[in-house]
Amino acid sequence: LFARESEFLKGVVAMNGLPDADRTEVCFAGRSNVGKSSLINALTGTKGLARASNTPGRTQEINFFMQGADHYLVDLPGYGYANAPLDVVEKWQKLLKKYLSGRQNLRRAFVLIDSRHGVKAVDEEIMKLLDTSAVTFQCVMTKADKVKAKDREKVIEQVKTALSKHPAAYPEIVLTSSEKGDGISTLRAIIANLP
Ligand code: GDP
Repeated sequence: LFARESEFLKGVVAMNGLPDADRTEVCFAGRSNVGKSSLINALTGTKGLARASNTPGRTQEINFFMQGADHYLVDLPGYGYANAPLDVVEKWQKLLKKYLSGRQNLRRAFVLIDSRHGVKAVDEEIMKLLDTSAVTFQCVMTKADKVKAKDREKVIEQVKTALSKHPAAYPEIVLTSSEKGDGISTLRAIIANLP
């Protein structure tokens, strides 16, 4: 079962700040504004737990949340800011690479994709990094309530085609709406049942 209790543990800016790899970990990645904070808040049922930061100059922290006694939920900083300074982007990429390649307890990455927009070039970058880091990733479509069913199908087809090129991709796509609650229990069950 997906535990009810969740709390913020810490924000990490360097590898030596990572908590002990002593429980199952999942991470969430996505373009800024994809709905990552809303999804984490919906999953945990805790409003305001994950906060959206649309300020690219802010410290790029990896935020750790405790989910019950057995899980870490990890909020990776949003990527793809239009005006992010290059040095910030490079520093972040370095930390991300190290984190993804060195975290033995990381069972799955969830790559969030906006149901209206599909997979973009910056998402491909993250997927490639997950391939080379051998971290299994699964796509979560966000804001499903914002698109009509037939438009959504087109986007899902585009996502499926993109995923077929990535060896680390888990084929099942999860459709969610943090606003309406769609897919939230499915995602909770996926996390709770990871080995
Ligand atoms: P983040 O930057 O990825 O953390 O994105 P946020 O969670 O802050 O969401 C960005 C914007 O999209 C906010 O205005 C949210 O209210 C909105 N949003 C997020 N999830 C949903 C959803 O499922 N449905 C709708 N309609 N809007 C959403």
